[in-house]
Amino acid sequence: MEEIFDNIPEQPSYDVIVIGAGAAGMMAAGTAARNGAKVLLLEKMEKPARKVRITGKGRCNLTNARGEEEFMENIRTNYDFLRVAYSEFNNRATMRFFERMGVKLKTERGDRVFPESGKAADIANALEFYCRDYDVEIRCHTRVSGIVTLGNKVLGVKYYNKRGFERRIEAPNVIIATGGISYPRTGSTGDGYLFADNLGHTIEDVRPSLTALVTSHPQAQYINDVLLRNTTVRLVVDGEVIGEEFGEVSFSDRGIEGAATLRLSRDAVDALTEEKSVKLELDLKPALDEEILRARIAREVAEMGPEEFFAELVRRLVPKPLVVPICKELDVHSRLYISKVSDKEFERLIKVLKRWSFPITDYASFDYAIVTAGGVKCSEVNEYTMESKLIKGLYFAGEVLDIDANTGGYNLQIAFSTGHLAGLLKK
Ligand SMILES: Cc1cc2nc3c(=O)[nH]c(=O)nc-3n(C[C@H](O)[C@H](O)[C@H](O)COP(=O)(O)OP(=O)(O)OC[C@H]3O[C@@H](n4cnc5c(N)ncnc54)[C@H](O)[C@@H]3O)c2cc1C
Repeated sequence: MEEIFDNIPEQPSYDVIVIGAGAAGMMAAGTAARNGAKVLLLEKMEKPARKVRITGKGRCNLTNARGEEEFMENIRTNYDFLRVAYSEFNNRATMRFFERMGVKLKTERGDRVFPESGKAADIANALEFYCRDYDVEIRCHTRVSGIVTLGNKVLGVKYYNKRGFERRIEAPNVIIATGGISYPRTGSTGDGYLFADNLGHTIEDVRPSLTALVTSHPQAQYINDVLLRNTTVRLVVDGEVIGEEFGEVSFSDRGIEGAATLRLSRDAVDALTEEKSVKLELDLKPALDEEILRARIAREVAEMGPEEFFAELVRRLVPKPLVVPICKELDVHSRLYISKVSDKEFERLIKVLKRWSFPITDYASFDYAIVTAGGVKCSEVNEYTMESKLIKGLYFAGEVLDIDANTGGYNLQIAFSTGHLAGLLKK
């Protein structure tokens, strides 16, 4: 429990202090202010919503338009806890909210919703406008250093002001919306976990989710900066396929990523943490079964001259940057005449095209993870209000909670739903 500082509290006092001007914090602050509360929003970075501005590769996939059940299937932890917040403010409410704020939206493949402008900044600016329109006082460059309590009641927060002096400010309600610990350069450095832990809350193990997977495969270094579309990727743990996704797979200096891999990464991280053997298996020709692929290869070979190279056949089947790595993987010289390729080598080619296996040895750190899995234990938070069950007047919203989801707009919706519910608090 934090002791009370003896310095004089600042005036004026507020009904609510929100810590963190991200997606959840701004939704919470604006909503509380709209309901008549005097709200102070404290943000340690130089401007609000740094993370929102880089979401969806700068386009911001703000929610997903799927029906509730399908939506919930994409929430990886504590979807039952989320249900109340979601029913108060669901994907439709989010879309209506931004459209009313003047942001036109469009829905793309996979029911992913984006601003029509393709600019994530439009979402960040709309959230900021929402807050300012209801007179939320936003203070940037202000890092909260702790929550002040008396017994089991919130009294306010301690923070460092722009000049580096520690100050205290009072309010009967504090909403912790400090985000997770991923992409810390946007401001989310895990402070909320420390605040919650200091006040007796349990923090479920935090680990990177939606992150690149590091492979020890010797060919991977030659497939850098390659994006493969329409690929099926399977996650194999201790020899058993435990997940399969279709879509984009990319290779970068961080490891194997792309939307299809990211969706499997959370289970891969958990398996690696438990020291299980983890592999990714790529099916580069998911539309063709082995028989049809064999026939296709026979057709291509028949069309080729006997003195064309093996690499030319591979080139007809996969994107160019994969040709040399596949030849090396098969240990067949790329300039071997097609007429000299053996049946066994053709069979090995089919196997690699359908089941190219990459041992996974590690995952990219929090610096590159899209989302943090784990966080403040949900059973210690009232799902109808987002208030702590341990400390009166303390609320949580957004990624600081132990709720995370697949890619597709679900994570921002978690922030909006929980932020909105926390903002409905009674003054
Ligand atoms: C590269 C990238 C792309 C993404 N793309 C998408 C996407 O397209 N769709 C989607 O749904 N999700 C996406 N996400 C995930 C999504 O952005 C997050 O889940 C969401 O922003 C979490 O919102 P939040 O408000 O809880 O936390 P954050 O957005 O992280 O906000 C927390 C805020 O609290 C501030 N703060 C922290 N500690 C303190 C302190 N001590 N004092 C004061 N302020 C503090 C931080 O500076 C920050 O501004 C993406 C994430 C990343 C990293």
